[in-house]
Amino acid sequence: MKNDKPDSLGEFKLIQQIKLQAGTAEHLLLGIGDDCAIQHQATDQQLLTSTDLLIEGVHFDLRWTSLEELGRKSVAVNLSDIAAMGGTPLSLFLGVACPQRLSSDELLQFTRGFLSEAEKYSVVLAGGDTCRSPGPLMISVTVQGCCRRGRAILRSGAAMGDAIYVSGTLGDSALALQQLQRGEVPTRELAVRHHTPQARVALGVQLAEQGLASAMLDISDGLLGDLGHIVESSVVGAVIELAKLPLSPAFRTAVEKNPQLIDLALSGGEDYELLFTSPLPDLEQRSELSPAVTRIGTITATCEIECCQSDQSLYQCARGGFDHFS
Ligand code: ADP
Ligand code: MG
Repeated sequence: MKNDKPDSLGEFKLIQQIKLQAGTAEHLLLGIGDDCAIQHQATDQQLLTSTDLLIEGVHFDLRWTSLEELGRKSVAVNLSDIAAMGGTPLSLFLGVACPQRLSSDELLQFTRGFLSEAEKYSVVLAGGDTCRSPGPLMISVTVQGCCRRGRAILRSGAAMGDAIYVSGTLGDSALALQQLQRGEVPTRELAVRHHTPQARVALGVQLAEQGLASAMLDISDGLLGDLGHIVESSVVGAVIELAKLPLSPAFRTAVEKNPQLIDLALSGGEDYELLFTSPLPDLEQRSELSPAVTRIGTITATCEIECCQSDQSLYQCARGGFDHFS
């Protein structure tokens, strides 16, 4: 990276700073500083790998997201993919393309947030790449994790009659974003769900270890769109009961004022909750599952997704899920 700003550390010193912040882990035999990281892998485990891109102006807006929050969020959304397989995250790799207008100090605010979130899950930063961007800030995060051999929960395992569950509450992040885009100030409860979502890693591991879920993914592009992935992969259909959607008190208050906002819970995106199916109908009662899960519907044979209202009439969601290419 060219040393462009008076306060800029230059690429080498910057990476040194990141390395100092990054810490170590038992499985990481060689971390930041060589051409590759070297990691130990247990023979009874399988390696899970996932990558996410976060592009300024597409995935985040620095007008209302701080660099520290962005660092935290970029870890959480990535770990959410490991959670969605029922895996345990181990190592992160961070690619940053940084525009001229951001100083080294500002980039280190980002990595501080990134590393504080990683530490919460005992995940280590094992490597990455750093360069200047002629355009927006671009972040690429790769996570590696593990699961017991054959225990990963795929999207393709749902069967007719399975119950459909979701963790936590839906729509909070999308409602916060809608308010921010309109120049309104979301309540703290909603804002937190948008700026610093939590990866449901512990819940994913519980579901995998106890063999409770037949299919699973994390909701990043909206409930209906992501349920569509399970339905398509499993070659089944689904009925969702609108009245059963888990909503936070803040979201419920907003929907009472404007009933159309329910569409944000159906297709808003960035919930990062786990959506899964199970042959077991009583998982709501399992107090050991955290966060609690709510049964929202049932897998059917129709190859369609239907949204049922309390009077049994069908509800048509006006919004599509998020699609970068549509
Ligand atoms: P190379 O020229 O082999 O790509 P670099 O100079 O880019 O090496 O990187 C040196 C070391 O620093 C490598 O171990 C790399 O993984 C690590 N690294 C570079 N950028 C980052 C970053 N943003 N986060 C974490 N590690 C990084
Ligand atoms: Mg490099």
